[in-house]
Amino acid sequence: MVRCPDFRKGGGAVRCPFCRHPDSRVIDSREVEDGQAIRRRRSCPECSRRFTTVEEAVLAVVKRSGVTEPFSRAKVMQGVRRACQGRPVDEDALALLAQQVEEAIRSTGAAEIPSQEVGLAILGPLSALDEVAYLRFASVYRSFESAADFAAEIDRLKSDAATRSSQAAVPVPTG
Ligand SMILES: [Zn+2]
Repeated sequence: MVRCPDFRKGGGAVRCPFCRHPDSRVIDSREVEDGQAIRRRRSCPECSRRFTTVEEAVLAVVKRSGVTEPFSRAKVMQGVRRACQGRPVDEDALALLAQQVEEAIRSTGAAEIPSQEVGLAILGPLSALDEVAYLRFASVYRSFESAADFAAEIDRLKSDAATRSSQAAVPVPTG
């Protein structure tokens, strides 16, 4: 199987892995992983052998400096792991969070995403995972400058939690 990174550009020429002929003919294409990748059956015009390519969309992250780099789950985990120090969050939970972040970003359909939006996509699943880690991460990401910023964020978390529990509670008549 040959992995080709630029299927958004139409795939381009794919070299035959058997005889090294520089191009091949597509005989069948189908989307896999909900359209995040395209699997193509190809045939070599030179040796007639067939092979399959899986072409994935490259998701690029645009940093504040304007430099782009490929989206990396490992980098998401690295950033979140720092916020989770001393917290009961294991590697499996971090890997799942990174997967959720990637899925959320890919679902936007954008090929390039600003790094701030990666941070934004981390906040939701992280607040569900561990509130302390969330506050640490948010304090850096949102540039908290004072204790008041933390207090406001904690109030917001509490009211979110209250909203969630009130939805399950029996309504109490007021007035
Ligand atoms: Zn060939």
